[in-house]
Amino acid sequence: MATTQTSSTHAAPTTNGAGAPGESFEVVNPADDSVIATLPLDGPERVAEVVAGVRANQPAWEALGFKGRRRWLDKLRDWMLDHSDEIADLMQAETGKVRAEAAGEMVYLTDLINFYGRRAKRFIGDEKVPAHSPLMKVKKLRVQYRPFPVAGIISPWNFPLILSIGDAIPALMAGCAVVIKPSEITPLALGRILLAWKEEIGGPDVFEIVNGRGETGSALVDQVDFVQFTGSDRTGRKVMAQAAERLTPVSLELGGNDPMIVLRSADMERSVNAATWGAFQNSGQVCMSVERLYVEEPIYDEFVQRLTDEVGTLRQGIDGAEYGSEVGAMTFPPQIDLVEKHVADARERGARVLTGGERGPGPGDWYPPTVIADADHSMEVVKEETFGPVVAVIKVRDADEAVRMANDSRHGLTGYVFGKTREATEVARRLEAGAACVNDVLINFLASDVPMGGWKDSGIGFRHGEYGIKKFVRPESLVINRFNQKREPIYFPYTEKRRRTLRRVTTFFNARGLKRRLGR
Ligand code: NAD
Repeated sequence: MATTQTSSTHAAPTTNGAGAPGESFEVVNPADDSVIATLPLDGPERVAEVVAGVRANQPAWEALGFKGRRRWLDKLRDWMLDHSDEIADLMQAETGKVRAEAAGEMVYLTDLINFYGRRAKRFIGDEKVPAHSPLMKVKKLRVQYRPFPVAGIISPWNFPLILSIGDAIPALMAGCAVVIKPSEITPLALGRILLAWKEEIGGPDVFEIVNGRGETGSALVDQVDFVQFTGSDRTGRKVMAQAAERLTPVSLELGGNDPMIVLRSADMERSVNAATWGAFQNSGQVCMSVERLYVEEPIYDEFVQRLTDEVGTLRQGIDGAEYGSEVGAMTFPPQIDLVEKHVADARERGARVLTGGERGPGPGDWYPPTVIADADHSMEVVKEETFGPVVAVIKVRDADEAVRMANDSRHGLTGYVFGKTREATEVARRLEAGAACVNDVLINFLASDVPMGGWKDSGIGFRHGEYGIKKFVRPESLVINRFNQKREPIYFPYTEKRRRTLRRVTTFFNARGLKRRLGR
């Protein structure tokens, strides 16, 4: 196993002040277990102070309008492009990702700034609404969208920037101030960017970070006007329950246990390549990872053999600016324990472990890419999210059985179907998931034009497209009188003459058929 380490030479970014005095937490490089930073922990008082600070500045940010806000985000984009190697180094050190995947986060973010920068006005600009009723034509109808003043973003460790700044971009474009609570496992790359926003870009003081564990996240929930949470469904439930106390709206992007169906009509080579990338990208620590592979009986044996061969070619290790590995370390040590538990359970229940299947040697948190064949729905690896470099292959009789089994899950984030386009698209339409890709995997996340989010236990709310920005604003309907006559026909006094006139007019407009309209 190649484990070329990338050492971080960056000073640890710090927050703007202490939380509970003296309390701190360590950030560890999962590739070699070295401590790379110690950060002060922000307690509830500090969180309240930070939120109050950005809240005070939010009206001026909103008043900048779309163009003015976009100008600042364009500066952020340019800074990220200029510093992409520095950020990738830092991110590799805190996550154990391979270079291609660490660098890929910035590519996504710079594209997203352009996406929302150009479209925010179209998605949430003022709307002129024609009245449906002729009686209401005497009013001008408008809808304006006003931001929730402060959006709190709580993010996980698997994509430290995509799942934090990626949500901050539409929130900021909408006119919100934003405070992010990154995962305590991976706060460094984000901290560096937030420091740059303040000190190098000179951005308005409406974009902040607070650091710490669950208690810091919980303190943030109590202070903000909208919560964007990405993480496990266990924590998502707690966040929603807490937010309910203050009637704070939430958007939850939670776990997945995503199925891929391979029909007998599929292109074998593309399916194998896609399954390999879909299962092992980011060491399988992707909410949308291919975790369950349903393969039709006539092609099952060949598919399993070719998948095993392809997975055998993957190189595991941490590379540098020159790409050289496909699979990195696991980022969160307890996740390896879960992976081991799921693999052991599958073995005990009769599945075949064809590659990997044993924790790698330390230092660091390494688990090799693992293919499990002959899996079934009694196994934890199939029933629950494994969130590691493991894929379970399940034999199915036909497409109907594949759909039934794919939908037999409490999760519903994404699904993938491979086969002749028309047939595969019909199968994809039957999946119970927020998104489905036909003859591709994971790629819907990069199609920021369309909504991405979960059904069932995979979440509430969507990111991307119009949904991804509209959730950060509230509609305010404006009904404007066109003619300022002294009195409207429906005002007081209620007289018999008025009653008759109103009845005649409303019947004329609401009834169907000439006779009835004329009251005959
Ligand atoms: P997690 O739920 O343990 O933690 C997520 C964040 O919540 C962290 O920042 C954590 O400190 C914070 N937190 C913990 N307790 C809290 C509380 N009581 N109140 C407020 N915040 C609290 O998740 P994780 O282990 O960091 O991430 C892995 C999970 O995230 C997986 O289930 C994965 O599928 C999911 N995920 C989902 C998506 C998606 O878009 N649907 C994307 C990536 C990851």
